[in-house]
Amino acid sequence: MNPVTHYLVSWGVANLIPLGRRDRAIVTLAGVAPDLDGLGAIPELLTRNSAQPLVWFSRYHHVLGHNVGFALVVTGMSYLLGVRKWKTAALACVAFHLHLMCDVLGARGPDGDQWPIPYLLPFSHAWQWTWSGQWPLNGWQNFAITGGALALTFYLAWARGYSPLEMISHKADESFVAALRKRFRSAQN
Ligand SMILES: [Zn+2]
Repeated sequence: MNPVTHYLVSWGVANLIPLGRRDRAIVTLAGVAPDLDGLGAIPELLTRNSAQPLVWFSRYHHVLGHNVGFALVVTGMSYLLGVRKWKTAALACVAFHLHLMCDVLGARGPDGDQWPIPYLLPFSHAWQWTWSGQWPLNGWQNFAITGGALALTFYLAWARGYSPLEMISHKADESFVAALRKRFRSAQN
């Protein structure tokens, strides 16, 4: 799935129990973290016409970050950085694994590549997650999930008074919530 959907879904996970702003941000980032291994796309694009192209995206995406070893790192860091440590680490672990499951469900590449998830890395290559019914990255199911996640985000922002923008800018977050509440004021009374 695309990073924006992962971001919205993970922010939803961060709101499953009452957490402060910092802990919500940690859980949300944990749910996006697996795709850090996709940053190899930048050198790959830049060098694709050179004599020695760096195929870091093709080689490492869904490999380096999509496994139990990285899950342990991310969960451990969430524990260390979180205010409510156990709750933050537990939800970060959930958000991380939800990301992997979403990729197994709906991240088939345009060339039909399933991007199997080598879950047991770096300990073992034995287990590769795939699902025969996997839908393509640009399939309608992903648009439906993104739409659902957006609707839930808007509702939570309206009801609770903060949105995923809180991680980018406090001011943007405030004006977004104010605009939402102004637009849907009647429903509040
Ligand atoms: Zn991913």
